[in-house]
Amino acid sequence: MEAEVRPLPRFEYFSPSSLSEALKLMKDYQGKARLLAGGTDLVIKLKKRAVIPEAVIDLNKIAALSFIKFAGGSLHIGALTRLTEIKDSPVVKEKAPALVEAISVMASTQIRNRATLAGNLCNASPAADTAPALLVLDASVKLQSADGDRIVPLAQFFMGPEQTVRKPGEIMTEIIVPEPKGSSTFIKLGRRKAFTLSVAAVAAYAQVSKGKFTEVRVAMGAVAPTPLRAEKVEKALKGKEVSEENIAKASALVKIDCCPITDVRASAEYRTEVSAVLAKRALRKVSMGEK
Ligand SMILES: Cc1cc2nc3c(=O)[nH]c(=O)nc-3n(C[C@H](O)[C@H](O)[C@H](O)COP(=O)(O)OP(=O)(O)OC[C@H]3O[C@@H](n4cnc5c(N)ncnc54)[C@H](O)[C@@H]3O)c2cc1C
Repeated sequence: MEAEVRPLPRFEYFSPSSLSEALKLMKDYQGKARLLAGGTDLVIKLKKRAVIPEAVIDLNKIAALSFIKFAGGSLHIGALTRLTEIKDSPVVKEKAPALVEAISVMASTQIRNRATLAGNLCNASPAADTAPALLVLDASVKLQSADGDRIVPLAQFFMGPEQTVRKPGEIMTEIIVPEPKGSSTFIKLGRRKAFTLSVAAVAAYAQVSKGKFTEVRVAMGAVAPTPLRAEKVEKALKGKEVSEENIAKASALVKIDCCPITDVRASAEYRTEVSAVLAKRALRKVSMGEK
């Protein structure tokens, strides 16, 4: 049987060449416009009629939104920078290894060549792979509107599936990652090794001094309505000795922090169990240097 080819719904299309023009359009449409970056999420939703905007504002001609730079002690990644460019960037590899690991196991080369980091975050899927990595790196996002801008910690950005604190007139213009002092990693479990959405994903970050955890962050994806920090695990480890026993005990607390659903990819019970295993592996890697 041939798949039904559905045309896109009707909408106004704008392709501004400056951020100020795009912000003005966002203000004029008062929440009834959708931004287009790589389109790898949006175009599917348009075809399915999951969203029917009055206007689509294409960001692709705004060259000023595509950059990677290290300044003022932080890594700054422009909203329109493609995932491939981020993954291959030497400065991102050095300052944000967990982000590079997350992008490396996302989608396919073709998708990564189009897709953007801001698109992955603003789409706000509970399984967005870059989110746990950026959460443990303590990232923030810059949201800009015609009336000004604000910096929001990523930990406060997600509200629910496809919901964020971004206001209708705001455009995410950059992602900011402070220079880390410790090690970070990201581990994804999917139904295949590649080109698959996460059944569960865990990122971890640790700073270790004199054999003790001085800072520890753990974040999870695909196990709750939003990507989230595993705060109970973090509290249980901070100040504690780096040991197999402490890591194993703390990782089990992931089960309290998460609240997954059962869907076509996995059951809630499996997601819960496997998240604890992934947390243990990730924490060992960042604190004991294990592969
Ligand atoms: C085959 C396939 C496989 C995939 N595999 C994965 C995977 O393994 N892991 C994963 O996490 N995702 C995966 N995805 C999802 C998708 O590729 C990513 O979420 C991607 O990063 C989205 O970026 P984009 O630039 O294409 O976003 P778009 O589709 O252009 O936009 C997504 C949403 O974000 C909004 N938006 C975009 N840019 C901005 C901005 N600057 N400010 C405010 N709002 C903005 C748009 O309006 C839209 O609502 C997959 C998708 C496909 C089609």
